[in-house]
Amino acid sequence: MKAIRGATTVSEDSPEQIKQAVKELLTEIAQKNGLSDENLVFLLFSNTSDIKSYYPAKAAREAGFYSCALFSAAEPEISGSLKMCIRVMAVVETESQPQHVYLNGAGDLRKDISKIINIAIDGPAGSGKSTIAKIIAKRLNMLCLDTGAMYRAAAMKCLSLGLTTKDEEAVAKVMENIDLKVELKDGAQRTLLDGSDVSDKIRTPQISMAASSFSTLGCVRQKIVELQRGIASGISCVLEGRDIGTNVLPAAQFKFFLTASPEVRAQRRFEENRAKGFIEDYQKILKDITERDEQDKNRRIAPLVKAADAVEIDTSDLNIEQVTAIIEKRIQEKI
Ligand code: C5P
Repeated sequence: MKAIRGATTVSEDSPEQIKQAVKELLTEIAQKNGLSDENLVFLLFSNTSDIKSYYPAKAAREAGFYSCALFSAAEPEISGSLKMCIRVMAVVETESQPQHVYLNGAGDLRKDISKIINIAIDGPAGSGKSTIAKIIAKRLNMLCLDTGAMYRAAAMKCLSLGLTTKDEEAVAKVMENIDLKVELKDGAQRTLLDGSDVSDKIRTPQISMAASSFSTLGCVRQKIVELQRGIASGISCVLEGRDIGTNVLPAAQFKFFLTASPEVRAQRRFEENRAKGFIEDYQKILKDITERDEQDKNRRIAPLVKAADAVEIDTSDLNIEQVTAIIEKRIQEKI
């Protein structure tokens, strides 16, 4: 079950305006979240104390929302609060990320959840961006898009067809028709290639290097960036990658660039692997990371580079909580 929030305002306390505003609000919530009557569990309304002429719950029933439980309550009078405001909490059966709806004068109440916000977190392998991006996305109730997973899946597809980066024309054809999707399942991204979940299979060192190689090709980047922009334009999300702030979403509201020394990053990867139960030689990881850095930084198209307006954070001597706190503070200051 998920809770979807919504709010709207009326310009006068009349039954007509309240009925109209409630209908608009619920219709928008249902449309944006792809809900039908059966998905709704209950609707809980509250209204500011200057609304006295009609119950929002009654207006909801009259607008056709009668199969779920409904309840309205008046809020205490708080000085300085928004006037003539009706709020709703819709509890619904859905797997999707809730899309909150703030209409009319309520649009300014929660800019963080009523507007589409994109947060770019770029950096090299092992800089901590994946872990941090997931935490930030969870706290802000946003999708976390692991863009590297998309390049990994594309590389996996090309490898499975026996292609190399030299076969650019064939790779371009594959990319044109690639069936690559990302889904949010139990709060985590699942990457689907040709309809099957490859989220775990794309994590091998072989695919890491292949992703770094295939992602140098224009035809691969063009397609993956198109998919990423499509996702980011429809939903608030944290995107972690290499070129989000510079190339995918140069107008993202928030941009961060995480770094750390190659030795620290290799050590993190070593420990991450050990926790997963496989021991890989530290020197080999360090060599792979340095090689991938070189390849990612020096490629012709969209190289790994800090956007001029990104906030750079060296995470070498910081723990996850400290990095998260810096990023969260920046976001809260600006929202
Ligand atoms: O982040 P991850 O290690 O999963 O990325 C795998 C590879 O995909 C990277 O080494 C990089 O070459 C490529 N990539 C990219 N642009 C992104 C994300 C990943 O080129 N936005």
